[in-house]
Amino acid sequence: MKQIYPEHHLIKTGHISYCQVCNSRKLHTILDLGHQPLCDSLLTKKMLSEPEKTYPLRMIWCEECTCVQIDYAVSGDEVYHPDYPYRSGITKELAVYQESIASSLVKKYNLTAKDLIVDIGSNDGTLLKGFQKENIGTLGVEPTNISKIANANGVKTIQAFFDIKNAKEIREKYGPASLIISTNTFAHMQGLGEFIMGAYYLLKDDGVFVNETHYLLDVIKGGQFDTIYHEHLRTYSLRSLIALFNQYDFTVTDVARGDRYGGNIRVYVTKGKGKPVSLEVKKLLAIEEEFGLGKLETYRKFAMRVKKARLEFMDFLIKTKKANKHIVGNSCPGRCSTLLNYYGVDSELVPYLAEQPASLKLNMYLPGKHIPIVNNQILIDEQPDFVILLAWHYAKPIMEQLKARGLKSDFVIPLPDFTIIKNSEV
Ligand SMILES: [Zn+2]
Repeated sequence: MKQIYPEHHLIKTGHISYCQVCNSRKLHTILDLGHQPLCDSLLTKKMLSEPEKTYPLRMIWCEECTCVQIDYAVSGDEVYHPDYPYRSGITKELAVYQESIASSLVKKYNLTAKDLIVDIGSNDGTLLKGFQKENIGTLGVEPTNISKIANANGVKTIQAFFDIKNAKEIREKYGPASLIISTNTFAHMQGLGEFIMGAYYLLKDDGVFVNETHYLLDVIKGGQFDTIYHEHLRTYSLRSLIALFNQYDFTVTDVARGDRYGGNIRVYVTKGKGKPVSLEVKKLLAIEEEFGLGKLETYRKFAMRVKKARLEFMDFLIKTKKANKHIVGNSCPGRCSTLLNYYGVDSELVPYLAEQPASLKLNMYLPGKHIPIVNNQILIDEQPDFVILLAWHYAKPIMEQLKARGLKSDFVIPLPDFTIIKNSEV
């Protein structure tokens, strides 16, 4: 069979020795985070008596296209089993945001009842609901059992991984798509070529692939090394996204930035070469250049900042423990697994991570370091001396909420720089 996408866009499980985007070997290790478990594979009490798998986790930068990536791919079957936990945990805030995506796209592309919108990695269908409100045809593609929830809610959803075969079947049955959307999935997949060519076959001529993913500039600027975990194979700059789509019959025609996932980028990629490109694309490329995303020095500085934050955090933690003060953790986002495993923080140093009462993570244990996850009522009952905010990118609202509930503790913010915030300052 004729190869219809570059071979390096089928990323094989195991060590990766080339750039996942541009196939260059000019790669640099920015941070070695050691061998780590999968950050979303929380353990039950029973599993603590069994062996636990870990995989290399290194932050790598490509000097050709500027994509940041990891150099070990864990098999998608191990990461995305059918019971993979409810990914985004659709909050009211996210639902409102997703509805606003829908209405802005309807306006931008003059979508009507004749158009079909396909959301890949559509979760429970929240985003597509926004299009349905405007009477536009929708179809979801979602590999996990969450697709059942979407179908029950009236959002037609196919339970499958998106690939070329699947795309052709969809086109045959439902017709070509005007718009394909993927939010927070593009960093993850090994079958990058399958995904892009699938989108190509499914889109009508001049159709647009809208792709939203976390953004390299925000990761580097914000010291967010904890967004590096096995699920995130790649962290894109705009330059690397353009380098990616240049290898296909697509044009990156527009771009926008947002503040989801600690800073995200949304690219609009039109089917066909040589399409008109908005000024925003040029502007953001210039910002990336000016910031230094194309220079190794920028990443060296980033790594030094991370290492300094780690030393200061660990120094404070150990001193606090020695002084018999009580210090605990709040919340357990996926990213805190990277942070705590890299720092080397276990339950002797931080006895628990407190989560919201409705969290599905309660009574589970952090992978690797086995810190128990407990109901956050414990914070109010115990009033520890310090609470470490592991969802530190939402520090402000979390501190305000906890204080409003009666918490009198001071707060520790681990990143981007180690900071203590007194309760009286909140
Ligand atoms: Zn590259």
